[in-house]
Amino acid sequence: MSHGVKKPPMKTIVILGSTGSIGTNTLDLVDRFPEEFRVAGLTAGSNDEKLEGQIRRFKPRLVALSDASAAARLRQRCEGLPVEILAGQEGLIQVASAPEAELVISAIVGGAGLVPTLAAIRSGKQIALANKEPMVMAGKLMQDEARRHGVRIFPVDSEHSAIFQSLEGHRKEDVRRLILTASGGALWTLSREELQDVTPERALQHPNWKMGAKITIDSATLMNKGLEVVEARWLFDIPESQIEVMIHRESIIHSLVEYQDRSMIAQLGLPDMRTPISYAMRYPGRMPLDLPSLDLTEIAKLTFCKPDHDRFPCLGLGYESLRVGGTMPATMNAANEIAVEAFLNGGIRFTDIVEIIRSTMDVHTTKDVETLEDALEADRWAREKAESLVVALAR
Ligand code: NAD
Ligand code: MG
Repeated sequence: MSHGVKKPPMKTIVILGSTGSIGTNTLDLVDRFPEEFRVAGLTAGSNDEKLEGQIRRFKPRLVALSDASAAARLRQRCEGLPVEILAGQEGLIQVASAPEAELVISAIVGGAGLVPTLAAIRSGKQIALANKEPMVMAGKLMQDEARRHGVRIFPVDSEHSAIFQSLEGHRKEDVRRLILTASGGALWTLSREELQDVTPERALQHPNWKMGAKITIDSATLMNKGLEVVEARWLFDIPESQIEVMIHRESIIHSLVEYQDRSMIAQLGLPDMRTPISYAMRYPGRMPLDLPSLDLTEIAKLTFCKPDHDRFPCLGLGYESLRVGGTMPATMNAANEIAVEAFLNGGIRFTDIVEIIRSTMDVHTTKDVETLEDALEADRWAREKAESLVVALAR
């Protein structure tokens, strides 16, 4: 039915991390609905070439690169174009809080997204949140600030979008459990011994999703699911004792909510991030996307099993970080970022990743996260600690 349907109002958006996997999927949606979205600002880390292409196509007024020399190159590339090019964290903050923006798509990878995302919240922007690490580092602070500034944070992460959709129209007090599904990542079938010698190339072969390198390694260690448990705790304000994880290799059921009457509500679909991104962008409406439909008769069979904490201990660390609370999740997150980078650079083994995270958490004295600085300080401390462990393990 198309007649009589009102056109959605024009929305002005900013994309933080526009050159990444989520960023480019978001721009694909903007391309499909040019009368619905106006791009005011874009940011990236250091990819000036890709950002130049996006500037020419989407004509933002303001952009920023966190890398200053990349920003200098971009200024040369964009000579004569009506765009202001900023650099560094200050630049990211300015784009995140651009006065005309109504919705900010937060899609930077890692803790680097915390400061700009919080700046967007503090300037009253609605948030479509893909960048999960800030929620892990400072989830309570982000939610408190969102409440104070009348901001809604819409999940983009497919599991959290599924839970968000499964909660719509229901009462929170009727929820019994949230069940996050996990594909198990690229290495689910390997033995403990085999995991030791896994190369980055092998770990990067995700069975269902095409994503940035960091989250793909996180999927292989199951740290991604550990981070997502923390993310769910803050997004939905529910204790970790009511959050469960189930392995579902096919990534068709994106997550489920169980209610007190033992009814379960789930959201299903083929794995394509444009579906959850579009829901966060047009909520409560849905975009007519001409993507392939899920044909369950063709799939015929879906499988489920319990996570294996023995081979994949990172998931348990996610729960543990929440039980300890305070700065422990930020510590876990930072150590993971350092360890994943070292693994990708060939510096450590796959199985060293969890050892570095655990050893960093073991020697951390947790304190409350009352301010942004509390989270950033724990992040700095943990990075330094984890770096020293990487050096000690370096091959
Ligand atoms: P990506 O590596 O493909 O892209 C990251 C983006 O952030 C790029 O634009 C990059 O230029 C920018 N960036 C990197 N480092 C930066 C820094 N220090 N300062 C500023 N900008 C920086 O990552 P991605 O796969 O798109 O993931 C983005 C976020 O979304 C992550 O937090 C990830 O966990 C989450 N997420 C991604 C997917 C997915 O399908 N890719 C799914 C769910 C959640
Ligand atoms: Mg996810």
